[in-house]
Amino acid sequence: MGGVEPSIFSLIINGEMPCHKVYEDEHVFSFLDVNPFSPGHTLVVPKEAAKTLDALSEESAQAIGRVLPRVSRAVLEVSGASEFNILQNNGPNAFQSVFHVHFHIIPKFQDGRGLAWPFKSNPIDHEDGARMAAAMRDLLS
Ligand code: 5GP
Repeated sequence: MGGVEPSIFSLIINGEMPCHKVYEDEHVFSFLDVNPFSPGHTLVVPKEAAKTLDALSEESAQAIGRVLPRVSRAVLEVSGASEFNILQNNGPNAFQSVFHVHFHIIPKFQDGRGLAWPFKSNPIDHEDGARMAAAMRDLLS
């Protein structure tokens, strides 16, 4: 996989592309989404250029987890929203368009601005569920 182009988010983190910066520490960078679903839509990004969350180091994951609630509080305070969604897409079929891990913080307003919920779910198949959960437990133990 050598010679991979830096993602647009790496350029932003490195100051080679402008952004509306919100937060920065050793491992994490945060800025406003250029195409917001609602006012205050913010991205929280690890400086580590992992493409998807499953490829992210524990150190970066820990750093992101630590700051997400704090950045969320600032987004709510400044946008005036009291509700929000966290969105995190992995892979093109899962709606990821920038292949550098990022968490969206999307304020949800009473008037509907923000993320809609078009997803359809079905009741679990318990036999299948038991098999899958057991296989996951094995992998995680
Ligand atoms: P994804 O679909 O990968 O989960 O979301 C990528 C997000 O990055 C989109 O919401 C898009 O608007 C945002 N984005 C793409 N390019 C830029 C950029 O150059 N600057 C900023 N601030 N946001 C970007």
